[in-house]
Amino acid sequence: TIGMIAIDGDGNVAAGTSTNGLTHKVPGRVGDSPIIGAGAYADSSAGAAAATGDGDIMMRFLPSYLAVELMRNGADPSAACKSAISRIKRHYSDFFGAIICANTTGHYGAACNNVPSLTQFHFMVETAESDAPVLKSVACF
Ligand code: ASP
Repeated sequence: TIGMIAIDGDGNVAAGTSTNGLTHKVPGRVGDSPIIGAGAYADSSAGAAAATGDGDIMMRFLPSYLAVELMRNGADPSAACKSAISRIKRHYSDFFGAIICANTTGHYGAACNNVPSLTQFHFMVETAESDAPVLKSVACF
């Protein structure tokens, strides 16, 4: 899945995803990516988030919605991302997944569940000040 968050100069946020879904998915499967609140969520009064990973598990927890609501309540984006991952971990400790979060002031973060196949999560950030997108990474927990 490709997940994107965009913030304009007035603090309006948008989020979106594009995915080919899971390998060997059954015909007709609808994953998390197109589900608002699961694959992505944006609210210009709080922030935005987008998720990737095992959608069949992750969509049950609406991680993007949860992260945005946590930012609305004052959590910084990294903490909001971590809480959204933690919520899923509590039930599925070995799920494969990650989430990116940004608030309306342009602060951002990401988090991922630490499993053998995912120990670091990489994402790109471009700001008005940067000449080009910059590669960032977080250690999964
Ligand atoms: N979340 C997607 C899905 O379950 C897969 C992915 O993120 O690569 O369809």
